[in-house]
Amino acid sequence: MTKKNSVAPFSIAGHNVWPGERLAFDLEVAQLYTHAPLSIPVEVLHGRKPGPVLLVNAAIHGDELNGVEVVRQLLARLQPHKIKGTLVAVPVVNVFGFVHKSRYLPDRRDLNRSFPGSEGGSIAARMAYQFFTEIVQHCTHVIDLHTGAIHRDNLPQIRADLSTEATREMAEAFGAPVVIDAVLRDGSLRAEAEQADIPVLTYEGGEALRFDKFAIAGGVHGVINVMRNLGMMPASRRKARSEPVIARSSSWVRANSNGILLSKVRLGDRVKRGQLLAEISAPLGADVTEVFAHRDGIVIGMHTLPLVNEGDALMHLAYFSSGATRHVEEQVEVFRDEVSDLEMH
Ligand SMILES: [Zn+2]
Repeated sequence: MTKKNSVAPFSIAGHNVWPGERLAFDLEVAQLYTHAPLSIPVEVLHGRKPGPVLLVNAAIHGDELNGVEVVRQLLARLQPHKIKGTLVAVPVVNVFGFVHKSRYLPDRRDLNRSFPGSEGGSIAARMAYQFFTEIVQHCTHVIDLHTGAIHRDNLPQIRADLSTEATREMAEAFGAPVVIDAVLRDGSLRAEAEQADIPVLTYEGGEALRFDKFAIAGGVHGVINVMRNLGMMPASRRKARSEPVIARSSSWVRANSNGILLSKVRLGDRVKRGQLLAEISAPLGADVTEVFAHRDGIVIGMHTLPLVNEGDALMHLAYFSSGATRHVEEQVEVFRDEVSDLEMH
């Protein structure tokens, strides 16, 4: 006899989680040379009422740490008996890279180009396969947390395939100031999950090997916004003030000489066509070359190392329809206020 609205235990990777309970377990994905097992830590919060199964995972690139902290804060805040549906939290997917503070796996492969993987392939393919079949395929929605690469800082932003309605809805609900309609790259978690009809958001914020409080608070806030939108948590009493704007396109401005970089803009700044973005000079200060914006846009990514070679990507600019650029600049400020409010509460 089943009660109205009662839910069955949630089964994943050989474990059962009872309604209203949380369970932490390790998913063994590989062995070290020493035969010590290498495992991905997983925690599941299973609500008492039915709802979506949301996977929130971080560190598919092992050196991208902001998402690890986002997951930790979510787990500290959320209680299973208060949610509808199920949250599957995986703070570190690429455990090899995480231990070595590296983006990659020991064979230099990129885990985010190895999905859906294969049972008998290389270590990257096997890890991708285990994670995909044991975890991802049991979920209905995914939020994949990333940061910029090493020496690259990203303004909090969502990348998603907006041609899928469910994905678009999640992207708008998340509340990051900028949304990029990004093509699916073969072998990425996002591409393979979307192919399996599981909508995926990629959140990018901050820089590899660093904690960025703004990007972390934005990530926690964004996941909770999506959970509210999916009906997993009650709607907020406070109305969200930020309205994400979808970028039409984006491109990197590259260094036009070699030397020491002095940036003249910050993440989130609005730049105008012809505006000075940076100066590149020789160590003795002579031979200064100037780098200008080719179009009006918003700075969504920056090179943070002040040493550059000609051709290096310096600034990532996102372009919006005319009139929207000023609005995006305002949205960045609104988002900053919103997440700093959250930090204080
Ligand atoms: Zn990444």
